[in-house]
This record gives sequence, structure tokens and C-alpha cells, in this order.
Amino acid sequence: MKINENYLQLQDSYLFSTIAKKVVDYTKANKDAQVIRLGIGDVTRPLVPTVVKAMEKAVLEMGDALTFKGYGEEQGYAFLRQAVAVYYAKKNIFLDKDEIFISDGAKSDVGNLLDIMAKENTVLIPNPVYPVYVDTNIMQGRKIQYMNGNAQNNFLPLPDEKVSADIIYLCSPNNPTGAVYNKDQLKQWVDYALAQEAIILFDAAYEVFIGEDSLPSSIYQIPRAKECAIELCSLSKTAGFTGTRCGYTVVPKQLIRQGIQLNKLWLRRQTTKFNGVPYVVQRGAEAVFSAEGLEECSENIAYYMENASLIAQTLDELGIWYTGGRNAPYIWLKCPDGMSSWEYFDYLLENLSLVGTPGAGFGANGEGYFRLTAFGKREDVVEAMKRLKKSVDKK
Ligand code: PLP
Repeated sequence: MKINENYLQLQDSYLFSTIAKKVVDYTKANKDAQVIRLGIGDVTRPLVPTVVKAMEKAVLEMGDALTFKGYGEEQGYAFLRQAVAVYYAKKNIFLDKDEIFISDGAKSDVGNLLDIMAKENTVLIPNPVYPVYVDTNIMQGRKIQYMNGNAQNNFLPLPDEKVSADIIYLCSPNNPTGAVYNKDQLKQWVDYALAQEAIILFDAAYEVFIGEDSLPSSIYQIPRAKECAIELCSLSKTAGFTGTRCGYTVVPKQLIRQGIQLNKLWLRRQTTKFNGVPYVVQRGAEAVFSAEGLEECSENIAYYMENASLIAQTLDELGIWYTGGRNAPYIWLKCPDGMSSWEYFDYLLENLSLVGTPGAGFGANGEGYFRLTAFGKREDVVEAMKRLKKSVDKK
């Protein structure tokens, strides 16, 4: 047996383990320090009551011979796909429920979708970005080209006609930069993809954080995007499902390459390699899209966005350059005084007992930048911003 040697090309990810080790060492040496973590990408608010109630009911159904469910449809129960279709219809996007595939989260589908695309395809990936796009392509041995996010383009790279690509990754609102493409910018990407006969994998995991109506929360708000884009979405941040696991992927029937509907290929892939998301979880997900569920979840989103704006306000006051913090739960700041990402990490930990995420961990273009997240507790955010202001005043 020969191993898949592409795995040997992967870089070990030391980012979060290095952070954890540095924090442990610091707390051992500073027993009284009140460490605040603003680096986590996980939510802290619990599931909302409407979702909990729906899941409790579903558990009882599973325990009753009359309502027990065995295997479900691999692509998700019709009730949930219908609920997702209604959610999209509110954005004036009309999907057939067969174009919606329920997943156990966006991460799985980000990797699995590559099964239906040839190895020879060239991939275009923004830098910095969510590292899963890069690693899943390295695992399959694909050629990767990077597009540069930087302060000049506000970390929103646009297409370069001179570069050819087959698979394009876009993430908006972006992890880690919090940057959000506007309609005109996304149209440029759709036009480019159509001209190249490429496919956009549009990661909309953070769409719910978009508060400004003029910004697109789905790529299908751009004309002809159904002919060139697959959209991935997740309830992880929308409804606190990081530990519950549910998302959805849209593969429009109009998306055709070499005369073949990608929707058919994806259905074939899923029915072969996936046995669906648990019934109980899908009932919980359905409840997210109910009027009560949406209302309750929006309170949690508002809580996180208030955190984001507290951080953004502080950076404004301190004159620190950043992207995000509006329409996104991430704040991506330029490290002050020319510090590198890890120098700033050490500075914040050792002087303010504050933990964030070094931007260098998201790609070479992240060097010199730093990610803060809005997913923490309010009192921690308030205290962290107090410490940050004080430290600058002291200088
Ligand atoms: N896409 C992006 C951009 C993310 O940041 C994350 C999680 O952090 C995911 C996808 C994964 O989401 P899920 O929990 O649905 O697998």
C-alpha cells in the first residue's frame, strides 16, 4: 500500500497549539493574571430556546416506535431543504429544494466538493484566508495560485484577467479579515468566472452578520451567479451550531460544465459517501428558520456585533488600521509600531494578559496583522478594550 504522498506536502499547523502553549506558560508564571481570550473562532452563546424545544421533541419522536426514523435522505429532509429555500426566497433568490444539500457543516463540504472536480484544475485562493481551502487542495495534489489580500485592496482581492483559474474560493464576510465584498466587486468575480468557465466556491458561513442591506449576503444576488457558483453555508455561527453540526450547500441546476449538471454529480457523491445529518439536528435546524428561531438567533448575532463594534470603536480611537468589525464578527488589525504578528501576540499576552490570533497563521500576507473575534463575553470585551486603551495612554 502506498500512502497519499500529497499529505506530506501539508504544513503542520502550529498556530493554535503554539497559542495554547504560550498561554499555559504565561499563566503558570503569572498565577494572578486574568487572561482574556479574544482569539477564539467558536461561539459562546448557547442554542436558542426554540431550537432546544424542537430537538427535545425530535428526541421523543425517535424514542417512539410510531415516529422513529431510520436512515433519512442523504441530501437532507425535505422539511429542512424547504425551510432553507424559504430563507433564500426572502433575499429574492429562488431555489428548487433539490438544489439544496444539507451538510454536517461547511467545513466538510469545502473539502468534499473537490471530489467532483478534476485534479488538473488550477485553484485560485485568497491569501490570507481560512486554511482549509489550501489544505484540502494540497491533499488532492492540485496546483494552487494565490491572490493577494493586502491593505491596498482592503483585503478584498479582485480578479486579474492575466491569471487563469478553474476553481476560485471566495469567503465573504471573510475569515480572518472580516472584509465583505460589495455587489460590484462580486459581479467582477462572477463575470471573470463565466469568462474563464471556472467555478466559484462561495463560502457564506458568516452571511448572517451582514447588517447593511446594500451588501450581498449570497452570491446568487449577482446576475448569472447560478451559472458559475456553489454556495456553502453553515448554522455554526448563525445559530450556535458549532457543536451541534449542520450546514447547507447550494448547487444550482444551471451550473453545467462539459455538458454535465454539477448538481447531479454532487447528489451522486453524497448518496454514495454520506448518510445524512441526524434527524434530531435537522429538526433543530428547521427551527432556526422559524419566525421565533430567527428572532432569537438575531439577538445573539446582535450581541456579537455589539462586541465587534466595541472593539472597532477602540481601534478607531487609538488610530489603529483594521478591516472588519462591521458586517462581520472578525476584526483584522495592523500590528502597531511595525511589530510582527507573533511579536504583537507576545506583547498583548505579556503586558495585557490578552490573547488574540496572529495573522501570519492565515497565510504569508497575514504577517504584521492580528485577528480579534467578537464571539467572547461582553464583560471580557469591555475589560480587554480598557486594557488596550490604558496601554496606549501609558506610552
Ligand atoms: N468556513 C469558514 C470561512 C469558517 O471560518 C468556518 C469555521 O470557522 C467554516 C467554514 C466551518 O464551519 P462549520 O462549523 O460549518 O464546519
